[in-house]
Amino acid sequence: MITPVSQAEFVAQAEGRLPAMEEVAEGVWCLPLRIAPGRMPFSLSYLVRDAEGGVHVVDPGWELDANVDAIDTAVRAIAGRGARIASLVVTHLHPDHLGLAERLRQRDGAPVIFHRAEQRAQEVVATRASDPGPIQADIEAWGVPEGSRAEIARFAQASARPVVIADVLVDDDDVLPIPGRTLRVIHTPGHTPGHICLVDEAGGLLYTGDHILPTVAPGVGLGGPTVDNPLEAYLDGLAAMRAYDDLVGLPGHGYRFRGIAERATEIARRHLGRSFEVAQAREADPDASVWEIASRLSWSRGWENLARHHIVSALRQTAMHVRLIADGRLDDMRKAWGEDVPHPRPSA
Ligand SMILES: [Zn+2]
Repeated sequence: MITPVSQAEFVAQAEGRLPAMEEVAEGVWCLPLRIAPGRMPFSLSYLVRDAEGGVHVVDPGWELDANVDAIDTAVRAIAGRGARIASLVVTHLHPDHLGLAERLRQRDGAPVIFHRAEQRAQEVVATRASDPGPIQADIEAWGVPEGSRAEIARFAQASARPVVIADVLVDDDDVLPIPGRTLRVIHTPGHTPGHICLVDEAGGLLYTGDHILPTVAPGVGLGGPTVDNPLEAYLDGLAAMRAYDDLVGLPGHGYRFRGIAERATEIARRHLGRSFEVAQAREADPDASVWEIASRLSWSRGWENLARHHIVSALRQTAMHVRLIADGRLDDMRKAWGEDVPHPRPSA
């Protein structure tokens, strides 16, 4: 069982309410921020006070005026009137994490910091938005039937988003420029190519971003196309997290928790359960296309009823599982996560 660290956050999450800011550890606060309607109820931002009175914002959250107000109020409460935002650290490129970075940088001059691969990923997504070629290639490779191709292509096309240029690009094992505090970067690709977690050993904290969440299994491959298989990278990244089981998990959504190794295992087994389902479908019909395999998997609403944009996501997910199997990684994944990975049941 994973254990919530804050009962208030846990209850607020369950009720879909925005919890209040809480001090997490000496000099670190958790600030829940709103997300645009129709998404998850809120994101969790973290404020870190440094030895010189500056406040570093980890994941500045969705671009909303209410969130700017919340951050400003919090920074004043933590470090006093006239306190400044010293840096904006972003775990990954999604708008519920990166959203306010540009606006706060322009206003306060604080440097924006994220992983090198996340810079590249944003550029790739921006290029794709104006080039239908790669999507056509995917559709061909997935074996989408002629009659569905145009429609699938429309939903698969990336929408253009402004690229945020980092002031500081970090790599795995770098230490963030925060005076008096050691926050070390762990590159955890999978959810997006340049996703990072942050370790604060002295504070007993692991900032998990959307790599490990307490209430949902994070989606994989959500940062545009990559050369590597995001699912493989993601599972390897989950395995690496088991070394930090004695730390408190500070996720990007949900609530702070203990039980990092157990949660990593739960999430990995969920993904692997799907891999085994795909492996079975391939055994039954070795020549089946990604489209055909996807159509034979269990989906909570049934394949026929999946909305078109969900079909695109279903095809992408299936292709990642097919690749994991084709690359021969299934057996060692099974050794790593348990020989008895259960067959997945579709969620309600
Ligand atoms: Zn998120």
